Amino acid sequence: MRENIILKCTDCGEENYITTKNKKLHPDRMEVKKYCPRCNKVTVHKEKK
Ligand SMILES: [Zn+2]
Repeated sequence: MRENIILKCTDCGEENYITTKNKKLHPDRMEVKKYCPRCNKVTVHKEKK
C-alpha cells in the first residue's frame, strides 16, 4: 500500500525529495518543512500529484 511521492519546494518548485507514504494513514496531501538546496533554506515542501 505504500506509494512513492515527490516532495516539491513551494518557493521555487524544485523537486527535492522522493519518499513513500501509506495512503491509508495519510490520504491527504503531505506538507513538510525541508531544506531546499536551490533556495538555500528550509521551505515548505508539498506532495506533487
Ligand atoms: Zn526551493
